Amino acid sequence: MQPSKTTQQGPLDREVRFALVSDLDWTMVDHNDHTHDKLLRLNHVWNTDLSHDSLLVYSTGRSPHLYEELAAEVPLLVPDILVCSVGTEILFQGVPHKPWSDFLDRGWDREKTLEIAQAEPALTLQDASEQRPHKISFKVSSGSDAVVQELTAKLKQAGLEVNVIYSAGVDLDLLPAAASKGKALAFLLEEMDGGAGRPRDGVLVAGDSGNDIELFAVAGVHGCMVANAHPELRAWCDAHASSTLFQASEDGPGGIFQALEHFEFVEHAEPRPAGVAVRRAVVGMTTAAAELFCGIAPQPLTDTVARLGEFLSDGFFYKHEGVECGKQEYLDYLGGPGYGGMAQVAAGRGEWREWLGAIVVREGVANTWKVEAVERVQPFKAGDHTGDVRRTYRVCMELQEAEPGRWLVSRQVYETLKPGEAYNSVPAA
Ligand SMILES: [Mg+2]
Repeated sequence: MQPSKTTQQGPLDREVRFALVSDLDWTMVDHNDHTHDKLLRLNHVWNTDLSHDSLLVYSTGRSPHLYEELAAEVPLLVPDILVCSVGTEILFQGVPHKPWSDFLDRGWDREKTLEIAQAEPALTLQDASEQRPHKISFKVSSGSDAVVQELTAKLKQAGLEVNVIYSAGVDLDLLPAAASKGKALAFLLEEMDGGAGRPRDGVLVAGDSGNDIELFAVAGVHGCMVANAHPELRAWCDAHASSTLFQASEDGPGGIFQALEHFEFVEHAEPRPAGVAVRRAVVGMTTAAAELFCGIAPQPLTDTVARLGEFLSDGFFYKHEGVECGKQEYLDYLGGPGYGGMAQVAAGRGEWREWLGAIVVREGVANTWKVEAVERVQPFKAGDHTGDVRRTYRVCMELQEAEPGRWLVSRQVYETLKPGEAYNSVPAA
């Protein structure tokens, strides 16, 4: 494989310490955990100790469209890199990574592949959103094994190099021979070799099913098989047992959390690098607010506002509609009936989650820090997950250390984001 050089500025251009490459369904996301407490705990650790010098990569069979659907339902962090459609699409902040699509173009004849497959009466094209530049997806109606064999033979006969992936007994994906989750990761690592280098402390891949095996097989990576893994991945991991392969005893994100600790990828270095204390303060503040909202520490709304007020100095703040105000006015606004955010959230206490989707911290002058974050608030009640209800804000804050370990917000600006805008709302660290 010869990755072509990219001129695009992206997440591969910075030196990083660590990278987590995780499958989504049943790995990063445990669909049985309706409160997503395990995922939120993992998010917290990522935001405080890893986000500043590590890469977060999701590698999923979902198309970008189906990824957006999941991201609207579940409290996922904003990834640095998104690998979609079983490795056929690599996206940096929502933008396709051209070197990868150029690489896949070679030897891929989409039209001819589609023409041959469509001649099979047992195959029905899936929805338009699942038809991608380097993926053609069908449903198989009957006699699947024979159909797959026949189609594979016909494609070969026509001189086409196609990866035929048949899964879950119904789905049939046709991909360029050079595409898979593992090949996409190997491509990214080779690009790092030609640029800022691979993550210094290593790469951890996490998965639960058969199409994750290729991730585990990438040379030099650490692996985390979650406890709820399917037999095919379990068999592979049993056959390839090694000190770099960890079999978790917890499902989904709980298993990833265990693996981070097991391999000591969570930073324990002392003294902590500049910015860690600020990040901890901001993530801690958000978590404290979330706990109050969620009724874990049930208190009247006025107490919640007062507690948040302890974090605020006499700086200036913006109401959500962009009106500047002082501290007291801001607190009155937060606690008042006119505010659509906290009052509503408090009214639905016990049914909401709040988390930081991404956070970037920069040092300013005179012991001040600038924080940019994507803040999200969303109901989590089962069956009530919709992107319309979720609120996403871009938050810009200035913090000052009033006394050691105590940080005050001296300026806070909120901007409401439309669904899908989170990608570009936080600049790379
Ligand atoms: Mg999965």
